[in-house]
Amino acid sequence: MTHAVIHKSGAVRAAANMPHYTAAYAQLDWEVFRSWLDYLPGGALNIAHEAVDRHVAHGRGHHEALRWLGKAGERRSYTYAELKTETDRFARLLANLGVGKGARIFAMLGRVPELYIAALGTLKAGAVFCPLYSAFGPEPVRARMAIGEAEVLITSPRDYARKVAGVRGDIPGLNHVLLTGGTTDIPADTIDLAAALADTPAEFETVLTRPDDMALLHFTSGTTGRPKGAVHVHEAVAAHNATGVIALDLHADDIYWCTADPGWVTGTSYGIIAPLTAGVTMLVDEAEFDVNRWYDTLERERVTVWYTAPTAIRLLMKAGAALPRARDLSRLRFMASVGEPLNPEAVIWSNTVFAKPFHDNWWQTETGGIMIANYAAMDVRPGSMGKPLPGVVAGILDVSETDTRPIDAPLQAGHLALRPGWPSIFRSYLNEEARYAACFRDGWYLTGDLAMRDDDGYYWFVGRADDVIKSAGHLIGPFEVESALMEHPAVAEAAVIGIPDERAGEVVKAFVTLRAGHTASAQLQKELLGYARQRLGPAIAPRQIDIADDLPRTRSGKIMRRLLKARELGLPEGDLSTLEKPA
Ligand code: AMP
Repeated sequence: MTHAVIHKSGAVRAAANMPHYTAAYAQLDWEVFRSWLDYLPGGALNIAHEAVDRHVAHGRGHHEALRWLGKAGERRSYTYAELKTETDRFARLLANLGVGKGARIFAMLGRVPELYIAALGTLKAGAVFCPLYSAFGPEPVRARMAIGEAEVLITSPRDYARKVAGVRGDIPGLNHVLLTGGTTDIPADTIDLAAALADTPAEFETVLTRPDDMALLHFTSGTTGRPKGAVHVHEAVAAHNATGVIALDLHADDIYWCTADPGWVTGTSYGIIAPLTAGVTMLVDEAEFDVNRWYDTLERERVTVWYTAPTAIRLLMKAGAALPRARDLSRLRFMASVGEPLNPEAVIWSNTVFAKPFHDNWWQTETGGIMIANYAAMDVRPGSMGKPLPGVVAGILDVSETDTRPIDAPLQAGHLALRPGWPSIFRSYLNEEARYAACFRDGWYLTGDLAMRDDDGYYWFVGRADDVIKSAGHLIGPFEVESALMEHPAVAEAAVIGIPDERAGEVVKAFVTLRAGHTASAQLQKELLGYARQRLGPAIAPRQIDIADDLPRTRSGKIMRRLLKARELGLPEGDLSTLEKPA
């Protein structure tokens, strides 16, 4: 296998936080990374203290922490000292409501300042922050709040009315709903957040959480069953901080822009926690993707470090090189990408257009932070995810029903596995011990991805080992989509697959069979599409629904999504032996 290699210039090497990967891999470990944190008295550790208060204590309270760009051109800025004040106030509000340690605080908000304040204030209060993507429809919202035993929800009046009010009875522990927007006309069983905060003093002593106390609950999806709540603890901050510094090369004077939404793990780990622990100025854009707006933002805000995703990069490539070339993007120092495979062409394109490559890195909800990356001081091999973070041991395994065997030969695909023990590893799937235990074999955590390693230790993504769909960087469990479709009166059975999409990588396609008394028609197809979109929201709903006479299944009756996929993609069905992997 020959790879293109993008070499680093000497100047960039000198500036990088980690100047030599091999030496760092030998020297750095989690003890060192823990020593980069401040901690609280008695060995207590609180993410929000490390992200916000400690900078104030170290005399950097005046430094701009959060620079918010509103959809309609508004701007708001918070220094670290102001962020401390506002997060203290939010934590005090929770305490005044009687919400204590371990309580689950859900947020379903767009990228507005309240979201960032709520996340950090929740952590200060010792409660657990659980983000929900604002493009979820009522069903995914209900399912996640029920599984997570939501006690508090912070959302907008519109999302409350559309997605929560009708199902509030299904979440009996949901004691408080805090509504943003400052409207006077809010439902009786909700609280006007702005008014409540205005009446609350900004006085709070951060709760002395232990490193192993639960801090974050992130939902993710598997092939089967309900969404899984991956539990992360306060100690995860050691990984957020270390990876921000090493893998994203954050320096305290950076203007950093992570384009991910905090409704997903990247937007929390790298759109809130990591950058703040590194003391940078964190840019937040409320608006959705827009080519011109993005280039304008990079130029005007003098962004130095930019963390984005392949779907967006593909759209930028499509819009052409003239747009970035017309701007002064000379401040941009480091660009990284995550979430889906980053095509080699995208890396080569970025190197031509920006005079620096996108640095792909790999991680997942369960790992809590970046595990494999292309680092600032390392040559980039376009198409590769890079090398394991110092402190992380990765392996490629042959996994059978009975055992696991490391594959040492280069460029042989197998299961990507990690040795457990890093601080941001998920500590459970909430109330699902068996599903959690199934992720570990022979002292390895099995990631569910297939990958290979080359002669020089670079890792290359091969595919998922399961039927989970990745669309625009978002993981979608087929089961959740199938269940919603099957609630439609015309649907007998449903099977959902991901099909390739130029923009989103994959989009969701569903196949359904009909109950007796219903006949296939274009009208019914349209109705089903509308139904799914209304129930599931645009982030998860299928883009295409085919009505089939029958669905292929195994002898034991399991629907063979892989066969449907092979047929859909025109792959020979004989290839199924290789497609068929344990789910
Ligand atoms: P999530 O848990 O939603 O963050 O999704 C994690 C999954 O996204 C991984 O298990 C991979 O399948 C995929 N993924 C994340 N980063 C990359 C990457 N750099 N290259 C290829 N796939 C990736």
